[in-house]
Order: sequence, then structure tokens, then C-alpha cells
Amino acid sequence: MRRKKLIRSAVLIIFGIAALIAVYSWTHPERVFKGTTAITFTERGFQEPDMKIIVTNPADVQRILGTIQLAPKSACMCSHIQQATFQKPNEMVEASICGHCFSILGRKKDGWYPNVREYWMPAGFYAEFRRLALSRTNEHWHVGE
Ligand SMILES: [Zn+2]
Repeated sequence: MRRKKLIRSAVLIIFGIAALIAVYSWTHPERVFKGTTAITFTERGFQEPDMKIIVTNPADVQRILGTIQLAPKSACMCSHIQQATFQKPNEMVEASICGHCFSILGRKKDGWYPNVREYWMPAGFYAEFRRLALSRTNEHWHVGE
């Protein structure tokens, strides 16, 4: 009897911890970028090939990650041509971006992303991206005026 009670409380504690972790990662989505070693910005080309900016300098990567403060929003109908890819030692996190959306794509399944999470584009993150894009004077990135 005592043993059963113990097992029951252990199970409750484990569920409690799992629930806390779930709530924490839901309310702190920035955590998913922890451990990023490289950030790649991509713009899909139509006539011309895709453009890429790859950031690997650790100080730059940390500074850019520090600008990511995510607030949830609902999906909008705009179509994105830009993407930010966060390379971590064992996985890659992809975000589809525009001037006002930051959509974390989640895992690809059967050729699409069933678990996209929508957030507002953090102003600081877009400013970093825009600065990098505009520094490519021989490329034409679509990052506003
Ligand atoms: Zn958008």
C-alpha cells in the first residue's frame, strides 16, 4: 500500500515537472535558440539564385540572439521570401520571417511544417538582419527602405 502511494506521488511529481517545462518553453520560446553557433539569413530568388548571409562569429551570433524577444501572434496571410536558420550542434531551428512576422517552423513532416508557431518580428532582430542585408551592396535584399 505504502509502495503504491509512493509510486503515485512519484508519477505526480514527474508529470508536474513535465508540465512546468512545457509551460516554461511555451512562455520562453527564445530558449529554443540556446546553443546556436551560426545564423543563416536566406532570401529566395525568383529570377536569380537564392541569397545567403551566414553569421558565425560567436560575438555576432550572441548579439543577434540577444535581440530575440518573442510575443505570440496569430498567423497572417503574407508570403515570406526570407528565412533565418539557427544551427545548433545537433539540430537546426528554422524561422520564416518578414518585416512583422517571426514564424518558428518546427519539424518538417511529409514536406511541410505542421507545428508552426507565430510571433511578432522582434524589432532588434530585424534591425540586425536589415543592417547585414544592406551591407551587401552588390545584392538586392528586400528589407524595406
Ligand atoms: Zn509575414
